[in-house]
Amino acid sequence: MRIDLLTLFPAMAEAVLGESMIGRAQKSGLIQLGFHNLRDWATDKHHIVDDRPFGGGAGMVLKPEPLFAAIERLKTPAAQVVYLCPDGEQLSTPLVKELAAAEHLVLVSGHYEGIDQRVRDTLVDREVSIGDYVLTNGTLPAMVLIDCVCRYVPGVLGEEKSLTQDSFHDSFLGFPQFTRPAEYRGMTVPEVLLSGDHKAIERWREEEALKKTRQRRPDLLGD
Ligand code: SAM
Repeated sequence: MRIDLLTLFPAMAEAVLGESMIGRAQKSGLIQLGFHNLRDWATDKHHIVDDRPFGGGAGMVLKPEPLFAAIERLKTPAAQVVYLCPDGEQLSTPLVKELAAAEHLVLVSGHYEGIDQRVRDTLVDREVSIGDYVLTNGTLPAMVLIDCVCRYVPGVLGEEKSLTQDSFHDSFLGFPQFTRPAEYRGMTVPEVLLSGDHKAIERWREEEALKKTRQRRPDLLGD
């Protein structure tokens, strides 16, 4: 899978996504990530990419020319262009799985008051929000999207089984996890986890996941 990110802050994404599992997945060639600075497509000598909004009001808007030039350059016939914005479709596990099936994603990160609407109307295939709050720019949202989408690329996680025991798989939240030592500061691990009885452990985990989901996210169960 290939993901290109168009942003004013490519170094921010490159540094963070070069670490840990996503960093290793890039090194082993499972995923290819490209980080591109929108300013590289500005044509004036000061590399200006924003201007005042028509109609007045606060803030600046990212101009159409560099965005058109950049997206048209980065797009391939298989690419889906995704604009990260607070008024987009909310990121969720089903959407993450859908995006993970794409061969190529071009992510567009906005800044200031956002991007010129003509870019959204003609070049963007999907608009995605990471939640009902507003960040200063779309680089962090794009990094969130890249991280969770790449987890679904086969081989990226050490153990694929993690995907099926994580929160939101099958509408459940995750079950509690414990590791050694079995007793720490007087706190013990549930006996069943030490029993070696795999069926009983599975049952306990299902019950705990259901209990937590009922308490915290009954909406996931349709309750
Ligand atoms: N004026 C815009 C609005 O009211 O919807 C908000 C612009 S925001 C300050 C600047 C940029 O941050 C946006 O263009 C978008 O790329 C990104 N952004 C901010 N919050 C986001 C969120 N919740 N999800 C995805 N992207 C977000």
